[in-house]
Amino acid sequence: MKAMVLRGITGLSENRSPLELADLAIPVPQEHEILVKVSACGVCHTELDEIEGRTPPSRFPIVPGHQVIGFVEKGGSSAGRFKIGDRVGIAWINSACGHCKSCKNGMENLCDDFKATGRDVNGGYAEYAAVSEAFAYPIPEIFPDAEAAPLLCAGAIGLRSLRLTNIKDGENIGLTGFGASAHLVLKMVQHEYPRSKVFVFSRTEREQEFARELGAAWAGGMEEESPEKLRAVIDTTPAWRPFIEALRNLEKGGRLVINAIRKEDGDKDSLLRLDYSRDLWKEKEIKSVANITRRDVKEFLQMAAEIPIRPEIQEYRLEEANKALLELKERNIRGAKVLRMG
Ligand SMILES: [Zn+2]
Ligand SMILES: [Zn+2]
Repeated sequence: MKAMVLRGITGLSENRSPLELADLAIPVPQEHEILVKVSACGVCHTELDEIEGRTPPSRFPIVPGHQVIGFVEKGGSSAGRFKIGDRVGIAWINSACGHCKSCKNGMENLCDDFKATGRDVNGGYAEYAAVSEAFAYPIPEIFPDAEAAPLLCAGAIGLRSLRLTNIKDGENIGLTGFGASAHLVLKMVQHEYPRSKVFVFSRTEREQEFARELGAAWAGGMEEESPEKLRAVIDTTPAWRPFIEALRNLEKGGRLVINAIRKEDGDKDSLLRLDYSRDLWKEKEIKSVANITRRDVKEFLQMAAEIPIRPEIQEYRLEEANKALLELKERNIRGAKVLRMG
């Protein structure tokens, strides 16, 4: 099968083609696994973190991609949850141990044995992928394959982030960075908290305009002061400067939720500009979001079908994965990038 593989950590600024087109054997589904013929796979910022080593793969070569939509081609000897031909999704959570304290408390995202699709196990930048049937999801009919793909990560983690903000209807929420996840969060806020106003902070005019088109109450630059104080901010950027700005814009007792698997070191010195009395005092909180649970994926897919959320997407061929990644790195973003197979 055709697959785009990563053979080792590399920098995207020097290496414009980090992934290599390879011909791999089609995976053989183990006992509880299903083999999925991939039709679409979303491109996520986390792939940049894998390639550049901020969240390094546990083995090489590895096939990235954790927003996978496809059709069940074959089942392992004891797999019976899906029928051949069923449409399924595979998300970031590929497996967890199932018996540790975190797993037992519904926090399988924090399991020490958490395995991520496309980082610890081959993912969806390929024509086929195998996954345990317990970690696959039926996809609501209303979504075409390419539109369903970005829902699996950006959407599910967006929902987890939104829950962690603890906001109530009518409270202001800020979104720092306006990529795939944030634009889905905006739609979730409109559905779940119709009286809340959304304030978007973004580097580019284009993204700010996009946010206003989608119904943001206000959109401005990363360093701008919010016209109203915010109960919570979700930061999806890889940088530190917006982190400080977001804290400054919080109201008393407000919470900053960081939805980023790693922060890049480039502007880390801006942390020194943190002013305790202005930015942290009065019981402001900071919380990070780690991974996702199966429940996040299931509930988000359901909510997305209900609203309905139809993500803005940009399609690429599998062979164009490097191009999609570079454009993502350069923040040439309008909606979510999706690879189409075949
Ligand atoms: Zn992702
Ligand atoms: Zn566990």
